[in-house]
Amino acid sequence: MRIAVVGAGYVGLTAAVCFARQGHDVSCHDVDARLIERLARRELPIYEPGLDLNTGTGAGEGTLDFTHSASDCVTGADIVFLAVGTPSGPRGQIDLSHVISAARAVAKALRPGAVIAIKSTVVAGTCRRIRHIVGEERRRLDFSVASNPEFLREGSAVKDFMEPDRVVIGTDDRRSRALLEELYRPQKRCGVKMICTSTINAELIKYAANAFLALKVGFINEVADLCEKTGGDILAVATGIGLDHRVGIPFLQPGPGFGGSCFPKDTRALVATGRKHGAPQILVETLIGRNEERKAALARRIISQASLKRGDVVAVLGLAFKANTDDVRESAALTIIPRLQKAGLKVRVHDPKAMDNASRHLERVQWAETPYDAARDASAVIILTEWDDYKRVKMERLAALMAGRYVFDYRNLLEPRKVTEQGLTYIGLGRPSVSGVRPAGSGALSLLDQRVAAPRTE
Ligand code: NAD
Repeated sequence: MRIAVVGAGYVGLTAAVCFARQGHDVSCHDVDARLIERLARRELPIYEPGLDLNTGTGAGEGTLDFTHSASDCVTGADIVFLAVGTPSGPRGQIDLSHVISAARAVAKALRPGAVIAIKSTVVAGTCRRIRHIVGEERRRLDFSVASNPEFLREGSAVKDFMEPDRVVIGTDDRRSRALLEELYRPQKRCGVKMICTSTINAELIKYAANAFLALKVGFINEVADLCEKTGGDILAVATGIGLDHRVGIPFLQPGPGFGGSCFPKDTRALVATGRKHGAPQILVETLIGRNEERKAALARRIISQASLKRGDVVAVLGLAFKANTDDVRESAALTIIPRLQKAGLKVRVHDPKAMDNASRHLERVQWAETPYDAARDASAVIILTEWDDYKRVKMERLAALMAGRYVFDYRNLLEPRKVTEQGLTYIGLGRPSVSGVRPAGSGALSLLDQRVAAPRTE
């Protein structure tokens, strides 16, 4: 098939590469001219494991090209995917301006019978609205608008795209359904479930799915707080909950509050849509507030529990909203770091992949090349992203560099014993905090005098 992909971000680029890998001829367009220039040079603009722009050279593969022109991209295409951003408007409602302008730009060059498939996450009724907008531009054209929401996760985008849990195809006519079913036949052959439904249902599925996962995260964060107060351990509790197949283990890890390019904006959009249609989404609305409060409370906790004073240095490890991506959109680090700075702390930061992106959002931080550089003279080390690199940090070396003794592991990434063995105090989420102290009269560090350091009430 001839496929056009409009929007070359995390979703559009992954889709373009994967469709080309499956044998289709793909043309990809973005309004960002510099982005297209980099892509045309086969330079990857994002960090995404497994994403390879040299697709199109292997046996059985299709072609992949990048163009500045929306018309060139779309000319002759059977399916035109819109994968542009859908950010939040000022009151949390979805901002559809990118989708609408992309639809207008492609309208002029659409061929008869073409299908516009919206991959961007859009509120219920958007496909119908886009159908109307394109219909105004091309009154005589026979075309369809379908919804094909994307469920990939950054960090495992290629695998998620090729082997999704399900493919959702939302259409309001048979022809576009048949075309999209044909496109996803390779996935179907591999046993992937296909849900063919209306455009409205497909649009709703995406928001409900994201809101549900975000609720799971918010729920386990609150259970983790209860574990701390009662002496429980969230690892045992979450496993005990998650092994029930009705619940499932994924998304039951506590953290510093969810962020990223989807959960925050999608939950806000769902709430705004609910209000607009007189179907309030109270659970999700409460979740959004609790999630923001959590980030602020965890920043306060660092200051109070480590008794930090103005001028103290703290090291933040992890700026990306999750591991294996360079994406920092609405990451916990972007809320927590400015709060630490406001309290007069000097913040040194490290991230294996996200420092460039974070530099557009953070001011007055010191950028460290390694976790050890970040920890030098630090009163506390704070882990905010669950990168494997931080699991492998040599605690002995870290402890020797630090001025203070606090490790805030807001991803429960480390083994507490390995931290306390070095005389450091370990503070995780939903698990006992433990202090390792030096035995009197000895330079050596030991676990002998471990004691529980109860977290203060916020
Ligand atoms: P992104 O910000 O990485 O990329 C969007 C791209 O669209 C940008 O490069 C931008 O320049 C381009 N663009 C904007 N307006 C355009 C226009 N009129 N014409 C051409 N290009 C235009 O966004 P993303 O993370 O890829 O997300 C895209 C959509 O997919 C969003 O609706 C998002 O909610 C949804 N989604 C994202 C993920 C994810 O993990 N990132 C997962 C599932 C769904």
